[in-house]
Amino acid sequence: MKRFAIGIDIGGTNTAYGLVDDTGHVYGEGVMSTRQYPDVDRYLEELYIGIQQLLKTVDCRCDIVGVGIGAPNANYFRGTIENAPNLPWKGIVPFVEKFRRFFPGKPVLMTNDAKAAAIGEMTFGAARGMKNFIVITLGTGLGSGFVVDGHLMLGHDSLAGELGHVIVNRTGRVCGCGRKGCLETYASATGIKRTVFKLLADHTEDSEFRRITYNDLTAEMITKAALNGDPLAAEAYEYTGMMLGQALADAVAVTSPEAIFLFGGLAKAGKYIFEPTKKYMEMHLLSNFRNKVKLLPSGIEGMNAAILGASALIWQQQAEREA
Ligand SMILES: [Zn+2]
Repeated sequence: MKRFAIGIDIGGTNTAYGLVDDTGHVYGEGVMSTRQYPDVDRYLEELYIGIQQLLKTVDCRCDIVGVGIGAPNANYFRGTIENAPNLPWKGIVPFVEKFRRFFPGKPVLMTNDAKAAAIGEMTFGAARGMKNFIVITLGTGLGSGFVVDGHLMLGHDSLAGELGHVIVNRTGRVCGCGRKGCLETYASATGIKRTVFKLLADHTEDSEFRRITYNDLTAEMITKAALNGDPLAAEAYEYTGMMLGQALADAVAVTSPEAIFLFGGLAKAGKYIFEPTKKYMEMHLLSNFRNKVKLLPSGIEGMNAAILGASALIWQQQAEREA
């Protein structure tokens, strides 16, 4: 009998879900609005209906081994989504407990998207066979998942791996968390936009960015300009890579990874982000770690990465049980 794990990626706008087998093949996908459902119980009913419809399209006798969920502000231990600013549900939502009613007897596991990406990388991606690595997701903010000695690092409250809020400059940029100088205010899609505007203020040369407002500027536009040889865009990436590389050198000293994977929009800039990040990481590494840590692109980056990562929570648990 074919076995599937259900992978669910909950975003502020939409929720994507799919059926994934143990090799990482996605057999069917669906998407629904998150934002339209301020009532979480209604949302879960709709999600369950969507999954049932998806199961009908898979023409075989199949067994669901479990449900893996990636969501912002997810607490792995408690199965709760806690005060997520970008989701319609306020306060602490006992999400797993509510959803488990639809899947009696099956494991339902939930973590945040960066940790799901790390498990996905280990199960289906370029970290297969690795026991120590870090996944950095460069999206609107900066997320991170640390795998140490073969296990996802969760910490006492499952909040471990908040590298995005490690302070890299005590008097630096104001962060959404209310403090100053967090890494994600520099190394993220939002961070590089702020850097472009800082560079425009510091320089007088003409640039295509001078005719674009802050709200209209996107990280994709900066990446495209860098790939087209725009010097200001390249300088913005150099600065972003410097801030990221310096912070990664510190992270390496804590967990001694074999590799660090860059995932998400900014990683698409290729050498414009990888080269400065690697250069500044090496420059600031403790000598024992130099020239040992690989900096690599994600092996699961693409359309299904978030669903794969969420489903991998289940496949990883199955592999541990069967080992
Ligand atoms: Zn912060």
